[in-house]
Amino acid sequence: MSVPKRQSATRKSSPRHARTGTVVYRLDREDRFVSTNAAWDDFARENGAPELAGSKVNGSPLWQFVEGMETAMIYRKVFARVREDGVQVRLPFCCDSPDLRRYMRMEIRPWKSGGVEIACRLLRVKKRRRMPILDAERTHTRQMIRMCSWCLRVEEPATRWSVLETYARKSRIMECERVPRISHGICPRCMRVIKKQAGLPA
Ligand SMILES: [Zn+2]
Repeated sequence: MSVPKRQSATRKSSPRHARTGTVVYRLDREDRFVSTNAAWDDFARENGAPELAGSKVNGSPLWQFVEGMETAMIYRKVFARVREDGVQVRLPFCCDSPDLRRYMRMEIRPWKSGGVEIACRLLRVKKRRRMPILDAERTHTRQMIRMCSWCLRVEEPATRWSVLETYARKSRIMECERVPRISHGICPRCMRVIKKQAGLPA
């Protein structure tokens, strides 16, 4: 998660995202939203999630929007490191829409009174063949797949993690009307990168 996960599975996507500035939000010492900037609202709107506008999320706990226990756990560890040691942590992640691959970077730094400030910057965008699995309006099968919250690769049997395009080709989901549901986790590669970047024990 970078920005609430709902925003990565979008209903609409628009090239306007490229003009979106750095998304910044602040959490108090108990991880409740204190403030969000205008770019946050732009991002929520452009991704078809107006219910995530700052005026609606402020006061709510971040954890309400984080999907997956593993993702929440690693966030808690990174926040603890930032708060206790006063360091800034930079993490790479992806926040895709059905037809765009968005490479982003998150900076997490201490903020006043035990809070944290999180700034998410878009580094690079790549157009992709539309991925129906990221389309929130598609109906679902009963199948569940596990996706890494950070790199958005999909776990396949035998603990391989594949990029969405590879998974879609193998499972032929492009040809299906209904798509599997996604549960979010974290792949071993991203876990290693996050721990290294945050200075957490391996
Ligand atoms: Zn990953």
